[in-house]
Amino acid sequence: SGEWAKATAILKEFEEKCATPAGKLRQVADAMTVEMHAGLASEGGSKLKMLISYVDNLPTGDEQGLFYALDLGGTNFRVMRVQLGGKEKRIVKHEVKEVSIPQNVMAGSSSDVLFDFIATALAKFVATEGDDFHLPPGRQRELGFTFSFPVKQMSIASGTLIKWTKGFSIEDVVGQDVVGELTKAMERAGLDVRVAALVNDTVGTLAGGRYNNPDVIAAVILGTGTNAAYVEQAHVIPKWHGLLPKSGEMVINMEWGNFRSSHLPVTEYDQNLDVESLNPGEQIYEKMISGMYLGEILRRVLCRMAEETSLFGDYVPPKLKIPFILRTPDMAAMHHDKSYDLKVVGNKLKDILEVPNSTLKMRKIVVELCDIITSRGARLSAAGIVGILKKLGRDTLKDGLKQRSVIAVDGALFEHYTKFRNCLEGAMKELLGDAAESIVIELSNDGSGVGAALLAASHSQYL
Ligand code: ADP
Ligand code: MG
Repeated sequence: SGEWAKATAILKEFEEKCATPAGKLRQVADAMTVEMHAGLASEGGSKLKMLISYVDNLPTGDEQGLFYALDLGGTNFRVMRVQLGGKEKRIVKHEVKEVSIPQNVMAGSSSDVLFDFIATALAKFVATEGDDFHLPPGRQRELGFTFSFPVKQMSIASGTLIKWTKGFSIEDVVGQDVVGELTKAMERAGLDVRVAALVNDTVGTLAGGRYNNPDVIAAVILGTGTNAAYVEQAHVIPKWHGLLPKSGEMVINMEWGNFRSSHLPVTEYDQNLDVESLNPGEQIYEKMISGMYLGEILRRVLCRMAEETSLFGDYVPPKLKIPFILRTPDMAAMHHDKSYDLKVVGNKLKDILEVPNSTLKMRKIVVELCDIITSRGARLSAAGIVGILKKLGRDTLKDGLKQRSVIAVDGALFEHYTKFRNCLEGAMKELLGDAAESIVIELSNDGSGVGAALLAASHSQYL
């Protein structure tokens, strides 16, 4: 009927606008490389901030002692303690506690409310430290603080928040030194802990990845948001005016979520999502790729279909109008539905959107939309990784030389959304050809927490 023709037309148009053929991905990868150079050349030289992390040495395996880590950056935050045993014993013991951050703390609260919440949770966790963790007498506990937002660092253990992303919005933190704020809150909570390292989750993942595998050269986060960090040669960072580190290297937090380029396949749905977001005009690449947004893009396309056709009934299902009601894990469950009648899709449509009787044809359209949105996100992230490899001259096979490049990836989107992951890996092969043999994408499960603890160890006051 005419209704199906209309729905199919919306689908087809969306599919065309989202297309990411290899040629386009190469343009995206090239643009990423160009922006990397520009961001390294000067402060504010690019949408890519290419932030200097002050991490000029990655873990060696010699790290020893009890260290804490705190991971703030998504809807949950994690506190962790690790007993490091050096080269022989490695990670002796490791405990994690996850705490969800109330919505009213994430957005619209104040710096004191946020950091008191964190410090209180940490204090409770420290109080449960068992006998199998050992702090030498007279020593202060030390912590690696993973803070996954753009920060202008002044040193390894200080830095001011440039802006919030990913649903956080607490005005009076912007411009503040987050280590200072955390330290004051810990004092208010009666907790005596020194922040030894402030790291982005990408940098933590890179450190944790390197600890396990010496070939790790970059880290990518694919979770609530997306970002990447990599090891750069310090002498090719024109905006770095400090002394060249002994290692000759510096880890760069790219903040690639804010990448944008005329080559990105931006649709009207992306534009509307952006305009109505907490951070309009920013994090455009992230809004096409990451877990916070994929389900929301799907909702927007379905909403358009419901408005322009009668496939969802005579009026738009009210739930379908609620922003962010369709979460990416639900989208993944629908996309992975293997049942012949797409039962999972039917149930999700019923439970989440209160669409009781979806037809098989409708369910198939939903699955196709999942595929279009997720393929685009996964392929664009592959192009970003290829951009990094190009910057490092690691995107081609060096004759005779077998240099392996490992990218450590963390984040639930990559870990749990199998079709996303497969599509990313497929696109890497498509773009790299034979060189793909020397590139490994490795899941680094919660590497950022361990990584932050390792960096706290290598920046301990007791070394
Ligand atoms: P963060 O990035 O906040 O540190 P995670 O790495 O746990 O945290 O990523 C959480 C995000 O991953 C969620 O916002 C969600 O969008 C996405 N996600 C979680 N589970 C799944 C899943 N099973 N399938 C697809 N996406 C998922
Ligand atoms: Mg994380």
